[in-house]
Amino acid sequence: MQKKILSGVQPTRQLTIGNYFGALINWQKTQYEGESLFCVVDLHAITQYQNPQDLYQNSLKVAALYLACGIDPVHSKIFIQSHVRQHTELSWLLGCSTPLGWLNRMTQFKDKAGQNTDKVGLGLYAYPVLMAADILLYHTTHVPVGADQKQHIELTRDMAISFNHTYGQPVFTIPEPVITAEGAKIMSLRDGTKKMSKSDPSDLSRILLTDTPDDIVQKIKKAKTDTQPLPDSIDELIVRPEAKNLVQLFALATKQSMQQVLHQYAGQNFSVFKPLLADVLVNVIEPIQVSYNTFMTDPMQLNIYLKQGADHAAAIAETTVKHVKQVMGFYS
Ligand code: ATP
Ligand code: MG
Repeated sequence: MQKKILSGVQPTRQLTIGNYFGALINWQKTQYEGESLFCVVDLHAITQYQNPQDLYQNSLKVAALYLACGIDPVHSKIFIQSHVRQHTELSWLLGCSTPLGWLNRMTQFKDKAGQNTDKVGLGLYAYPVLMAADILLYHTTHVPVGADQKQHIELTRDMAISFNHTYGQPVFTIPEPVITAEGAKIMSLRDGTKKMSKSDPSDLSRILLTDTPDDIVQKIKKAKTDTQPLPDSIDELIVRPEAKNLVQLFALATKQSMQQVLHQYAGQNFSVFKPLLADVLVNVIEPIQVSYNTFMTDPMQLNIYLKQGADHAAAIAETTVKHVKQVMGFYS
């Protein structure tokens, strides 16, 4: 069976270096292995309040970053999730039979809602159901994501298996996550035990792909570390999450293993290592920005890709929703 690949990023800001190493690099590598769809998941973004102007702008910026990070619009389709209405429709059809017990296990909800479980909206809780709809609409076989989304894909699998069982037909394809070993979880620059996130309140916690070289130098300079020099083995980094994260970023940016980085820099202090890290990150980000700026200066071409992508996706999605409704017994 031909691979069908789908993934997305929320336009809650522009992409972080975590999104890049955890997801986008993976998309870029796997896109030619089958039919690929990459959407800007704006309906997911509104599970937490978005300033309307920011949501509008960030939706286009994230799409431009997809192309700038190497998504090939001739081979792969890019689109905005809310342009394909079937995502919300399938989400309702699936959500009606998703046990609350399954949703209660989702750690992303717990992380994002924190102590405010009574105050956050229903959307944050129902987020994994919409994500399952995104995936199942297109008979996706492979979903390249960071490690934090593994649990949501497992839930999607359970929902698909359960639906197929209930209606006695293989309506949905069972998808698999694709998670890289190295970049799967980049940590916050302010707290090595927390994932780097677009929506973290602290700007200093993340490097954005749209940051200037000076921003990057400053953020790395202010990144939390300890006072020890770099060790010569990875084992010694286990109890030093911030140091480990910086070594990991260096390794990813220079396409080396963490051990190779430690071989080179063991015994060095962060005052020496941090400027070098900022340099290698700027080297990764600069060419992405050149391409990003071209798409943003004249977004006409980008809008054409988004329209073509949405038309293509909607045709597949409509066939799936029709099938699901027919199987469930909806009068037509
Ligand atoms: P938000 O804070 O709004 O949730 P985010 O940075 O977590 O933003 P998402 O849009 O939720 O980004 O996720 C997009 C993709 O990036 C997903 O595949 C996710 O697994 C991956 N990803 C997110 N953060 C990281 C990270 N720190 N390291 C590696 N991959 C990540
Ligand atoms: Mg997230």
